[in-house]
Amino acid sequence: MKVAMPSLTALLCLTCSTSTLAECLETGVQLQILGSGGPGASGGRASSGYLLWVDGVSRIMVDAGSGTKDQFYRAGANSDDIEFVGLSHLHPDHSAELPAIFWPAGGSFNISGPTGSDDFPSIEKFLELLIGPNGAYSVLAPRMNLQVTTVDTSSRQSMKIWSADNILASATAVPHGEVPTLAYKFEFAQKSIVFASDQNGSDPAFIDFARGVDYLVIHLTGTEDATGVIAQLHAKPSVWGDMAASAEVGQVIVSHISATTTEMLDESLAIIRQHYAGPLVIGEDMMCIEL
Ligand SMILES: [Zn+2]
Ligand SMILES: [Zn+2]
Repeated sequence: MKVAMPSLTALLCLTCSTSTLAECLETGVQLQILGSGGPGASGGRASSGYLLWVDGVSRIMVDAGSGTKDQFYRAGANSDDIEFVGLSHLHPDHSAELPAIFWPAGGSFNISGPTGSDDFPSIEKFLELLIGPNGAYSVLAPRMNLQVTTVDTSSRQSMKIWSADNILASATAVPHGEVPTLAYKFEFAQKSIVFASDQNGSDPAFIDFARGVDYLVIHLTGTEDATGVIAQLHAKPSVWGDMAASAEVGQVIVSHISATTTEMLDESLAIIRQHYAGPLVIGEDMMCIEL
């Protein structure tokens, strides 16, 4: 089950202390990256999407960006096994394939996302427009049984959003220009992981949210010389490095990679490393990482 990762992966784990796996396992907790790319051309990477496997079951999904439907099924994930979906925000590279993943089987799960704004619907409105009885894909409405949790992005408090067994999920707002956006944290019995999502790194409250976690997934789109709207939306590599170092995370996993050449990516990674000395894994689509 669950498809092998690319053979280059071992080479991409440059200083990591824990395992990237040839395939996810039947026991323990693993992160599988469905899409390690960002918006637009991303060097062949699918857009943002992640699975958390628990004892061989695909129970948790974070984001459902463009290209993740195909990856979801390549990974051997089962839509019936999904118990929780966390959408970080409603840019298409994080949310566009939600209906495709759950067509035609449908799904029954908890889902969370941000409150709305002038330019973005809330998670409830998004789901209503998309898969509600009068939505664009109303054909899915009778097949979906969703418990929706909306996280208020005007609050600077993190919020517990879901728990099951020994898993606790929480979310907090992060600054992504004017786009209502959430970071997610999952705490398991032994390990913890934060998905930082798209953000510009300007809110120190995020460092508290991520403090001491074992794994921090960062979204690397902004280059060090970015200006204008990109700089408002995305943290520069030096900022990601500073945040990871300040939060004293165990390991950084680089994802949402928009660089279209190895040289562009290497330039940003070198800057991160100047600011963060810990283990760093460069994400690849379908990569499985043992937590
Ligand atoms: Zn994005
Ligand atoms: Zn975004």
